[in-house]
Amino acid sequence: MILYKTEEEIELIRASAKVLAQAHGEVAGLIKEGVTTRELDRRAEEFIKDHGGQPSFKGYNDFPFSLCISPNSVVVHGFPSDYTLKSGDIISVDCGVKLNGYHSDSAYTYPVGEVAPEVLSLLDFTKRSLYLGIEQAVAGNRMGDIGYAIQTSVEKQGYGVVRELVGHGIGKSLHERPEVPNYGKRGAGLKLQTGLVLAIEPMVNLGTKHVVQEKDGWTIRTKDLKPSAHFEHTVVIRKDKAEILTSFEYIEKALQ
Ligand code: MG
Ligand code: MG
Repeated sequence: MILYKTEEEIELIRASAKVLAQAHGEVAGLIKEGVTTRELDRRAEEFIKDHGGQPSFKGYNDFPFSLCISPNSVVVHGFPSDYTLKSGDIISVDCGVKLNGYHSDSAYTYPVGEVAPEVLSLLDFTKRSLYLGIEQAVAGNRMGDIGYAIQTSVEKQGYGVVRELVGHGIGKSLHERPEVPNYGKRGAGLKLQTGLVLAIEPMVNLGTKHVVQEKDGWTIRTKDLKPSAHFEHTVVIRKDKAEILTSFEYIEKALQ
């Protein structure tokens, strides 16, 4: 069953998304060479709890942390650890917040220090593809229009689009129907309607689209060990233009 949200529910998700956006900004301010990914996780959890929320990921299917932190060839679902950030890394930080019963979800991939130009381009095109997908997330369009926009824009650059992991509906549950693939056919799939809240999240690899799961049961890595980027917003379908509920505003402020 697909759950369409009322304006009252969207308001609650907007409040959750605001804390999430600020938590991302807190983490962004800490990202530099020499910091462990565990420190980032600790700060995010503290910030979310101080603002009345709960980290959505902690305890979700027994996931043990508040952030998924995925460096370099890790696509998503990496564990925070004693890994120390070093110049040349890219690092994806994925976070969810539950506030007043409603979840929000977003992710951002950062360069650390001096990063190879081809990897910076991967970040740039993946972020752009997220916004191209969001442009298609309007009432009357089809789910395939979102995936088509993302897929064609990044495949044009020679990148691989991950198939095994997809975006999702979101609300009282972190993951609701429908799935939001980052690939698809124009005009195909579910007709998008006002009030549908989606987490749109392109996962794009510099090399092959193929991924493998590590023995911890979570970490997803590129098969060829080349870098992967991930950007995500929670949005609500509207008539002419999706409303983006999460925001990178605090991240961008912290990076200035
Ligand atoms: Mg996420
Ligand atoms: Mg998500």
